Amino acid sequence: MIGLLLFLQIAVSHPALVVRDGPAQVMVAVTTSGGERTVRADALMSAMGGALVNAPNQRFTLVLFRGRLELADGIPFARLDTVMIPLARPPVVRGGFLYLPYQLVSEIIPRYGGGYFYDRAARELRTFTTVVRRPPAQRPPPVATTRPPPPVVRSSEKRIVVIDPGHGGRDQGMSGPIGSSPWFIEKDVVLAIGKKLAASLRREGVEVVMTRTTDTLIALSDRGHIANRSRGDVFISLHVNAPGSSNAAGARERGFETYFLAEAKTADARRVEEMENEAVKFETGADAPKGDPLSFIITDMAQNEHLRESSELAQTIQLGLIDVHPGPNRGVNQANFAVLRGSYMPAVLIELGFGTNRSEATFLTDDGNQARLTNQIAESVVAYLARYESRVGGTR
Ligand SMILES: [Zn+2]
Repeated sequence: MIGLLLFLQIAVSHPALVVRDGPAQVMVAVTTSGGERTVRADALMSAMGGALVNAPNQRFTLVLFRGRLELADGIPFARLDTVMIPLARPPVVRGGFLYLPYQLVSEIIPRYGGGYFYDRAARELRTFTTVVRRPPAQRPPPVATTRPPPPVVRSSEKRIVVIDPGHGGRDQGMSGPIGSSPWFIEKDVVLAIGKKLAASLRREGVEVVMTRTTDTLIALSDRGHIANRSRGDVFISLHVNAPGSSNAAGARERGFETYFLAEAKTADARRVEEMENEAVKFETGADAPKGDPLSFIITDMAQNEHLRESSELAQTIQLGLIDVHPGPNRGVNQANFAVLRGSYMPAVLIELGFGTNRSEATFLTDDGNQARLTNQIAESVVAYLARYESRVGGTR
């Protein structure tokens, strides 16, 4: 009887969800919406060591270790690759936060997320993946000699990564930190980091082309041309962030983020996109509700392949940086960067931190930190290339 009372009380007050990874556990608040249990997506992803990615039009991706679930505000479906998973209730955005129906925790993530188990009695989401996220201090030394050979095998099939250290020459990029005479110059720091990234990637057996190795100015459009001429497989532009204003609040801005290009930008891709969007009108009827599941699928299919690849590359890099960067994690974002526009390959732009913030400027100029960051980025790129390789079957 006491047990039953206890159970009833618990059911009403919604105790927190426990996310357990080995001995580590994090509590995630469970809230109620329309009488249904919900959890905040950002809190859940941070507890699970995953990431919440915001896309335009109130669409979201939950990045888990072995998969990505795509969601849209008010739409009772989750998408995993090409599989549409019906949900009892839609995720909803309230007060700027995405709230997930509890079914995602109790059924969807355990079934489709890979490596998760939900214990109903304990209200515990457990990970049984062998991947343990270590705090930076316990990471192995940057150059691990025991690492298995890189997946890129024959030299004739070596993958090529184009590294683009931003700015250069007359274009200094940002300078900082705010409140002192500027000693942090973006063009110099990203060149130093770019060179270290090149070395890290070459150690992994990847070929590297750099858009610049000296303090020279290269037009944005030329950076893409260099990438295309060298037949790169991946394009990575390196930058350092600065806030919108140089006041005290601006000086406190910190964190790293990875961008990928927002829209199909070749004239042909635009034409196809417009055409496909036109078709949606006919297929769903002119009065189809905004965010109709069908238009959600069709718009997605109209996106070009590189976008999806770029987004995955960006997510892989961003997730990896969580381990080595003091943060905060500002997430993966889409933006329409001119430098990414001209390259016909998966392309991302990393904002490595804020050079306007004293502590991040110090962090980013430290040799050891630069090595840890670039080793981690290289590891992510190699992991991405291995997955890419398995998708395309090693053909170019
Ligand atoms: Zn920049």
